[in-house]
Parts: sequence; structure tokens; C-alpha cells
Amino acid sequence: MRIKFWGVRGSIPVPGNTTIRYGGNTSCVQVLPSDDTILIIDAGTGIRKLGKELMQGVCGRGGGDIHLLISHTHWDHIQGLPFFAPSYRESNRLTVYARGREDCHLDVVLKSATTDPYFPIPLDAVQAEVSFRELTEGESFDIGVCQVQCTRLNHPWIALGYRIQEGDKAVMYVSDTAPFSDVLLEHDFISEPPKPGDRPTPDQAEKLQQMEEDLVALCRGCDIIVFDTMFTEPEYRQRPHWGHSAPVHAIDIARRAGVGRLVLFHHAPNRTDEQVDEILAEARSLAPDLEIIAATEMAELEV
Ligand SMILES: [Zn+2]
Ligand SMILES: [Zn+2]
Repeated sequence: MRIKFWGVRGSIPVPGNTTIRYGGNTSCVQVLPSDDTILIIDAGTGIRKLGKELMQGVCGRGGGDIHLLISHTHWDHIQGLPFFAPSYRESNRLTVYARGREDCHLDVVLKSATTDPYFPIPLDAVQAEVSFRELTEGESFDIGVCQVQCTRLNHPWIALGYRIQEGDKAVMYVSDTAPFSDVLLEHDFISEPPKPGDRPTPDQAEKLQQMEEDLVALCRGCDIIVFDTMFTEPEYRQRPHWGHSAPVHAIDIARRAGVGRLVLFHHAPNRTDEQVDEILAEARSLAPDLEIIAATEMAELEV
């Protein structure tokens, strides 16, 4: 099994001469199992180029069967979807998976993004057959030869982490999430960070602990973890309510789960290539016991 990074950035695409090496497109990762299953995680702007490549193969002839796992529907994880070429080819099938929410179905959420006046072609009008599967936290299911499991992450309006396993190889995708210590992020808009000394209530602390235990359990036995490390630790301390981690938090989860390879992912949009280099070097010095990589657009890793 291999994974390929098509977009590694958080929040907003940032093309330009300061992001050339790591890349400026938003979140999109392809998992390539040993068979021809087409499995994609997140549809940030990186999915546009992936779509072009898929059109060179079976998706260009119609008959492509694409599975797209969405961590959550914030813009940086879906904004490439209207530009995904296989959607516009008859006889392709696209199945979109994401956590179901009580107040609004997944198809309504995604269709709203391409409704007039936001985009000229409604998702309903694309030629491919598009279907939606709403997931519950902790669910497992198969996609081709892969087993997929999901768990809840600590992010505003809730995100899902995904574990993809084929045989004895497994990869875990954890984006976006805050650590599980300071703020429980659910469906409330939290505009200010907690004041110094503020702690989660016992109820919130219990939920956070459970979420963290479930995540560590799902990471256990994986070969690689791809983790949202948008923040440095000082940045996290200023904005714990934004729902993102620093490398130190990812290292902690990787160690507790016994996973030896960690990929820093969802780089902050204002981060230059040199700054990502520095963050990577610092993470490596903090955790010489782990193999740490910074996600790079178009790079492939053997799992
Ligand atoms: Zn994000
Ligand atoms: Zn998000």
C-alpha cells in the first residue's frame, strides 16, 4: 500500500514562491492499495490535479469507481470537489463518505457549496453517479481490499480520523484536531480562548479523554500517522479553541500508539518552506525515536 499527497496545506490554498517545495494546495491524500481501488481522503484543492490524473485511466473512459472519505466539510477539505474532473464523465461513480450530523444531511451540505450563486454547475447536474454515505463515529466498513475505520476528532463541528488497512499494513489520517487537554470542541462557536486556569468541566474532560483513548486505540498497529500539525506549540497556546495541534501533540499520540512514522500535515497557510523545514527539524530533535516527515505535495510514501 502507498499514500500520495496531492494537497498538504490547511485553511486556504497558498501558491507562490514561498511554498514551492512543500506545496500550496489544501488537504487531499490518496491511498493506493495493491488492487485498483480508488480511495481518496479529503477534497481540498489538491484533488483537482488528482482528478486530471485519474482521467488518464479508467475514469476517463467512464467506469471509474471512486471512494472519497471526507474528514469534515470545512472549505479546505472540500473546495476542490467542484473541479474534480471524474465527476463530469458519465458512468463514473463517486461515493462520498463523511460523518452524518443530526441537523443537516451530507448531500445537502455538499450541494449547497455549488448552488447558485456560488458555482455554475450544481452537484446534482454532474454526469457521474454521486452517492453519499453518512458515517457514525467508530464505524468500520470495507472499500475494495481496504478496511476503513473512523473515530471522532476534537475540532469545531467535529471531524473524523480514518484508519485504512490492507492486510498487515495500515495508515491513519488525523486531520483536523486539537489535542484533548484544554477545550472540548463540539457544535458551539467558541470565539475566545479559555482564560488562564480555566479547565474543562468534568463532563467535558471525560469526553476528551474518551476521544483521545479511541484515537490512540485506532492508531495502534498503524505503520504511518498523518497528523494535523498546523500550529507550533506557542501558537496552539494562543488558539486552543481553533481545533489544531502542534507537532508535540502528534508525537505524543504516535508514541502512545507505538507508531514509528509520523507525517506532519495541514501546514499553516502563512508558513514558508523554510519555516516548515525548521518545524520539521525541531520535531525530529524532540522525537529522535520516531521517523518524522513533513507532508510534501506530490510525494509518495510506501506504507
Ligand atoms: Zn483544515
Ligand atoms: Zn477544519
